Amino acid sequence: MSHLMNTYGRQALAFERGQGAWLWDTQGRRYLDALAGIAVNGLGHAHPRLVRAISEQAGRLIHCSNIYQVPLQEALGDRLAELSGMDKSFFCNSGAEANEAAIKLARLYGHQRGVENPAIVVMERAWHGRTLATLSATGSRKAQAGFEPLMSGFIRVPYNDIGAIAQVAENKSDIVAVLLEPVQGEGGVRIADLDYQRALHALCRERGWLYMVDEVQCGIGRTGTWFSFQHTGVLPDVMTLAKGLGSGVPIGACVAAGVAADVFKPGNHGTTFGGGPLVCAAALETLAVMADEHLLDNAARLGQRLLDGLHSGLAGVAGVQEIRGQGLMIGVELDRPCGALVGQAIAEGLLINVTQDTVVRLLPPLIIDQDQVDQILAQLVPLIRTFLAA
Ligand SMILES: *Cc1c(COP(=O)(O)O)cnc(C)c1O
Repeated sequence: MSHLMNTYGRQALAFERGQGAWLWDTQGRRYLDALAGIAVNGLGHAHPRLVRAISEQAGRLIHCSNIYQVPLQEALGDRLAELSGMDKSFFCNSGAEANEAAIKLARLYGHQRGVENPAIVVMERAWHGRTLATLSATGSRKAQAGFEPLMSGFIRVPYNDIGAIAQVAENKSDIVAVLLEPVQGEGGVRIADLDYQRALHALCRERGWLYMVDEVQCGIGRTGTWFSFQHTGVLPDVMTLAKGLGSGVPIGACVAAGVAADVFKPGNHGTTFGGGPLVCAAALETLAVMADEHLLDNAARLGQRLLDGLHSGLAGVAGVQEIRGQGLMIGVELDRPCGALVGQAIAEGLLINVTQDTVVRLLPPLIIDQDQVDQILAQLVPLIRTFLAA
């Protein structure tokens, strides 16, 4: 009997070590990693600079309470401000916690403006985490079922539909913020139109709402820019980060600009572990390696190659509904549940994921090279063709 709670339907597969985009299981079998721990391992596995940065920091200081100055946390806040054009960060330990901070920030912002029951607009198929507030913001009945009562204070609208929000704006006076994934990950790799994002930003400006983007999955180089919002030319008030930020050590961030950056005062929010020296050293080194190795360009270029290869390899194949992608965040939507493809890919030595039952999702490490992209295509295209022909 396992002494682990039964929270995951796990593959019968355990990994022992990794190198770049490769992983080896406990039997010594090699796999090409086209998932990167769900957009976490941007630098791939065992990147020597990351290993050195973590080892050296572990030998100096692992933890230090936030009741003291933490210079590495200051440095990471500076670096994120420089890269994003935003102002201030709060560091925590996960994506859900980053979104909790954003939700609390938006509510406090509302109360500071005399709004008694502040509400946040959220999207259909959104994924914001599994804590009670973020689960309530999440647009998945499957994830929410059994955990009622959910939290109030969220208004759900269709994704990528500015008319729907404009309509809600007419009827609701207590809205204080909008929370949007520029690219929905768990929701099936759905990409918000750039014009929609700009219109939403303009609506937020007009109404005095905070424009908040959840970049926990699509941030940190994944879409070919440091942050996905940078494709739009408009600056959010709040952005949340986590997955790729620490290359596997647990770190999340709630980043804010302008008035939003000064909403929290001492005593409003906090964390024991968040922003400690070890994780901040890992995040700083992650961002440094990404710049030195030109990983944004790599994500944009090889993401396009992967997308083009899928388009040509699957052109005209009955059952392929849509192929979507931005950088190295790619989804192939089929007309039927396709979870079985995950095991079939494992049998071929390829790691992929299926989300929303029908969407094959690829999130390879940002260090992936052209040959590895071509290998993903050479394995995945026939797998999907065979699956659909059956
Ligand atoms: C994964 C994810 C989260 C939750 O992050 P955790 O670290 O699992 O809590 C939140 N938002 C988005 C967009 C995600 O992809």
